[in-house]
Amino acid sequence: MSRKTSAPRSGLTCFGVGEGWPCADRNHSSFLFRFGDLHYLFDAGDGLSSTYKASGLSYDRIDRVFISHMHSDHVGGFSLFVQGLWLEKRRRALPVHMPGQGIPAMRAWLQATGLFEDLVGFPIYWEPLAENIPIREAGMTILPFHTSHLDSLRQAFQKKHKSTCFEAFSFLIEGHGKRVAYTGDIGRASDLDPLLKEPLDLLLCEASHIPLPELLAKLRGRPIRQIVFTHLERELWSDKSRMLQETKAALGDIPFVIARDGDEYTF
Ligand SMILES: [Zn+2]
Ligand SMILES: [Zn+2]
Repeated sequence: MSRKTSAPRSGLTCFGVGEGWPCADRNHSSFLFRFGDLHYLFDAGDGLSSTYKASGLSYDRIDRVFISHMHSDHVGGFSLFVQGLWLEKRRRALPVHMPGQGIPAMRAWLQATGLFEDLVGFPIYWEPLAENIPIREAGMTILPFHTSHLDSLRQAFQKKHKSTCFEAFSFLIEGHGKRVAYTGDIGRASDLDPLLKEPLDLLLCEASHIPLPELLAKLRGRPIRQIVFTHLERELWSDKSRMLQETKAALGDIPFVIARDGDEYTF
């Protein structure tokens, strides 16, 4: 597994590997998957604006944005990112795929912050995600799956808070002869099942919402070429050597790494 590369054909850049808690040494969730010339941004947590600038990528580079769910650690940097696209003079239309119920709120937020479409200079195409309905282009397929991440909140609060978006998604991304997956935030180990049906070149896997032994038991023995762990819950992040030890013992031959902001991986 390579951590730094110059110009890979396919790769993952970690703009932010944090979870929901404030953290002094991690930005919140945001990742770039690259397949040849196609660039897909997954989640847009706080810190994206500066890490994107530091990456040196053109502001016309992103082909699509995918938002896994509406928690602020996954979406809190989105409006500032759009402001960056405006100031850096993006001109290409930007498709944004996200939970449908969050779209009116996102549009209203951009409107309220002055980022109207006729100002920013490029259209945003808002596309609601739907379970098992693929997004296809140029030999690529991005397949969203529901996760149970927000199910207990939905049960407790949906009747009272009807405008809250309780959908959460994971993604299987295939193309250029590669198959990779991003868990988004999960609620139980079985949320990983649809991602693990076939061999993976890379799994970008959150490590906050189910106990580590349970997560590792689900991954053990799977045909995965590399696992990049992200979104570690605070205790794991503060004692990464413990996680490295336990993970090595559980996963054996599967290469894995605990991602840091700015890391790049090829696949
Ligand atoms: Zn999260
Ligand atoms: Zn979440």
